[in-house]
Amino acid sequence: MAEAVIDLGAIAANLRTIAATARTALMAVVKADGFGHGAVPVARAAVGAGARWLGVTSTAEALALRAAGLDAPVLSWLHRPDEDFTRLIAADVDIAVSSLTQLGAVVGAAARLGVSAAVQLKADVGLSRNGARGDDWPELVTWARKHEAEGSIQVRGVWSHLTNADVPGCPSIERQVSTFREALRIARGAGLDPELVHLANSAAALTAPQTRLDLCRIGLAMYGVEPFGATGPGRFGLRPAMTLRSQVVHLKRVPAGTGVSYGPDHVTSRPTTLALLPLGYADGLSRTAEGRAWVWLAGRRCPIVGRIAMDQCVVDAGDLPVALGDPVVVFGPGAEPGSPDPAEPTAAEWARWAGTNPHEVLTGIGTRVARVHLRGGAATS
Ligand SMILES: *Cc1c(COP(=O)(O)O)cnc(C)c1O
Repeated sequence: MAEAVIDLGAIAANLRTIAATARTALMAVVKADGFGHGAVPVARAAVGAGARWLGVTSTAEALALRAAGLDAPVLSWLHRPDEDFTRLIAADVDIAVSSLTQLGAVVGAAARLGVSAAVQLKADVGLSRNGARGDDWPELVTWARKHEAEGSIQVRGVWSHLTNADVPGCPSIERQVSTFREALRIARGAGLDPELVHLANSAAALTAPQTRLDLCRIGLAMYGVEPFGATGPGRFGLRPAMTLRSQVVHLKRVPAGTGVSYGPDHVTSRPTTLALLPLGYADGLSRTAEGRAWVWLAGRRCPIVGRIAMDQCVVDAGDLPVALGDPVVVFGPGAEPGSPDPAEPTAAEWARWAGTNPHEVLTGIGTRVARVHLRGGAATS
């Protein structure tokens, strides 16, 4: 009854557009099931479009790519405290290392397998999430060099992540680039010679040249969403890859004064046609967008009225000629830039209505929404 149609051609085109600006190798970030788009089909499209690397947060995500036959280099960066690194090493996945504890566990796992593990050391330049900071960094790189010299690991990369890349020109970017350069200097001073040094996400890749280095890690922009919202520095020619669509499953004509959904928080002010959509907050339509959200129905934008329920919501179609089964687009590519014609909402607009970021809108689409992948017009599930 509802499906998220993923245009893999848009994913490929977005990556080429970003590559033309960044002029570095790209890592396609396919964590969280490819931001809800399907990690494996997105990864295949991304590699086909020239992405050199794939990025994920967990062992399960990394191994799912390998199980699907993807053999591109993969970096995985969030680990359990008791992580069994043998699985990542055996699958030839690069392991992000943020602490001596993790380094010890990777070295132990490599020894058990009798191979060398590829690691990428993570510095913390300000996010205070993972990564090593302060005195922990010199200690981490010193020990990493020792283990590298013994052959149990190979330090392939040094990397970090910025706090405010989506605010172009924010002074924190320059500060964090300096902190990262200093971390790199310390790593090289300890004898490391990483071939891959990286810092930029989508926003930094598009607007902060000093962050591009050897590789940019691209999430949101690959999925076609401009990382700067409506007030951003121009447009980059990206095309949203996901269209969330459904159908009218029930219709009724009601008089003025009719309560709609729980509460009711909404009462009709005139005779109108109410169309029921089989999508609710369990499918990712946030309740915080209530009273602000619109969908595309019968060639117009129509408001969602009343409370969004777990499985359904009600659209006020006014006097439009709507029939049972008519298609409804919750969000999609939206209008062509500069086009005067109205069009369906975008995920970025839904993010504004819900008071969140587009990442949360995209990753929030529930599992009962079928993903349908379009490649050159043909649909594959
Ligand atoms: C999610 C993530 C990215 C991708 O960020 P976007 O802003 O979506 O491009 C890059 N690097 C790290 C470490 C991430 O966690």
